[in-house]
Amino acid sequence: MTEQPAGQPSTKYKRVLLKISGEALMGDQGYGLHPPTVERIAREVKTVHDMGVEICMVIGGGNIFRGLQGSAQGVERTTADYMGMLATVMNALAMQGALETIGIHTRVISAITMNEVAEPYIRRRAVRHLEKKRVCIFAAGTGNPYFTTDTAATLRANEMSCEAIFKGTKVDGVYDKDPAKHDDAVRYDRITYDDVLAKHLGVMDASAIALARDNDLPIIVFSLDEPGGFKTILAGQGTYTIVS
Ligand code: UDP
Repeated sequence: MTEQPAGQPSTKYKRVLLKISGEALMGDQGYGLHPPTVERIAREVKTVHDMGVEICMVIGGGNIFRGLQGSAQGVERTTADYMGMLATVMNALAMQGALETIGIHTRVISAITMNEVAEPYIRRRAVRHLEKKRVCIFAAGTGNPYFTTDTAATLRANEMSCEAIFKGTKVDGVYDKDPAKHDDAVRYDRITYDDVLAKHLGVMDASAIALARDNDLPIIVFSLDEPGGFKTILAGQGTYTIVS
């Protein structure tokens, strides 16, 4: 059990990584950042931080730029991917601002060196930040084109020895078909990595799922739209799907 401040529910998790897509930060706008939404997610993170859990975050960039879309519009693919990685840095800075406003010390750690903006990624230094209860937001993906922030999340979660990835989405888990389109969609409580891959369930991209599987890293899919949902699941309750 993790030691937590008095009055907080206990959790079996000492260190986790929260992965959210860039789109989670745009609210209903369709593009960019929606500050009240960023602030709401920051407050969700604080509730878990207050439990004494060490938190890593990876935020996508899809609310601003995605490499595949850019290349479909004529931008050379590698360049487009670097643009996507830079978009994740903007999102990370926005989240850092929101977290620090509510008193959570935060470091943005970039896979692409940009010392004026963010720390470079040095694994041991990042671990030390976590031990000091600073939230570490890993930005710029893996630093390599042809990857996604799902893979970056799995990579960093492994490197930081996180016990699980928490994938915050719009729905409360993994369904056999899109619950927004099908009333009879069924949610899985638990599913294997191989089933996610075989059934093309779109939890994360295939390379991220394989990397999690090969390192026994559970992925917990839950709704970030549910107020208090992140904390509830950390406390061992709530609705979610675990991929293991
Ligand atoms: N990206 C990349 N390498 C990485 C991570 C991200 O090239 O290691 C680029 C890629 O173009 C991607 C974009 O950054 O489309 C934004 O990331 P992602 O699509 O994962 O964001 P999300 O869908 O989670 O918002």
